[in-house]
Amino acid sequence: MKPIQMVDLVGQYQKIKPEVDAALQRVLDSTAFINGPEVKEFEKELGAYLGVKHVIGCANGTDALQIAMMALGLKPGDEVITASFTFVATVEVVALLGVVPVFADVLPGTFNLDPADIARKITPKTRAIVPVHLFGQTADMEAIMRIAEEHGLHVIEDNAQAIGADYTFADGTKKKSGAIGHIASTSFFPSKNLGGYGDGGALFTNDDALAKKLRRVCNHGSDVRYFHEVVGVNSRLDSMQAAILRVKLEHLDTYSAARNAAAAFYDKAFAGLENIIVPQRSASSTHVFHQYTLRVTGGHRDGLKQHLEAHGVPAMIYYPVSCHQQNAYKSVRFPEGSLPVTEQLICEVLSLPMSTELDNEQLTHITNTVKGYFNQ
Ligand SMILES: *Cc1c(COP(=O)(O)O)cnc(C)c1O
Repeated sequence: MKPIQMVDLVGQYQKIKPEVDAALQRVLDSTAFINGPEVKEFEKELGAYLGVKHVIGCANGTDALQIAMMALGLKPGDEVITASFTFVATVEVVALLGVVPVFADVLPGTFNLDPADIARKITPKTRAIVPVHLFGQTADMEAIMRIAEEHGLHVIEDNAQAIGADYTFADGTKKKSGAIGHIASTSFFPSKNLGGYGDGGALFTNDDALAKKLRRVCNHGSDVRYFHEVVGVNSRLDSMQAAILRVKLEHLDTYSAARNAAAAFYDKAFAGLENIIVPQRSASSTHVFHQYTLRVTGGHRDGLKQHLEAHGVPAMIYYPVSCHQQNAYKSVRFPEGSLPVTEQLICEVLSLPMSTELDNEQLTHITNTVKGYFNQ
């Protein structure tokens, strides 16, 4: 059996090596390393795939979130509602801008923001909502957009984990995850579903005026070289990453299908296990399984993780500490117990290996090892 890893980037590269190597050679031959044609082409191709008018490359997914908030003109003292059960990036950039992160709880089934709790957290200072499409499923965007509209708020989708997922509205309309909010951000970190071979990120919007502002902020606050309209940052997607991402975008739907096949194998194997809750599928979004995350009940999570590791199966806790309980972001407004679902999930979640390259032998070993823990 091939050794099992959380993500198998080597196996994935081997299958597309001629295409990727040729793309890199093209960039080397052109020496157009910054803002070259590869970046423009990738932005166009990703926009067409997502059905969004503007895609703006930037240096990473964290920058993308910060640039979105700068372009919206968020100011110190403003409030942004987001999840605490997430990677820290969102909360970090909110805090860096002097904006106040306000946490809403998530739903125990999909791990995504609970619209009812978002509504409860709105104050006169709220300016934006940042739903994080966690682990590969779009949050309940129809409800979130309705709340935002009622209160005059902007919505920034953090789409770092769900690129390629399809969201279906009540009337049957379908949109890609990241094509629904006023702005969306994503990350091309190597282990993401659309990962480069280094850092990268992008912003999406359908709004021409916002697109102009986003490009300006990315580019030192400038539209015309050496003339600076606003305070900006230097955040660019480089041509090598764009060239690699153009190759990988062509495979994205195949990759999502491979992840779904692995998830279906897991689901079937775990059906009926008393202390295992398999990931719930949202009624309105497809899943692209950035992570396959179990809830392990009965206090068995840490024991199962150790058992898996002892048998050559890596497993990860995403996330071991929620944002409102991190030393950097504790506030009196969110004491322990204030986000009960988030705090429960932190103790129960366990993510199993998930990649485009898992084979049946590996999946059989992983699922037998999980079952073995409960049968011993
Ligand atoms: C990875 C990730 C980010 C940050 O992306 P980077 O490219 O690593 O800066 C932001 N939000 C979420 C939900 C992520 O998973």
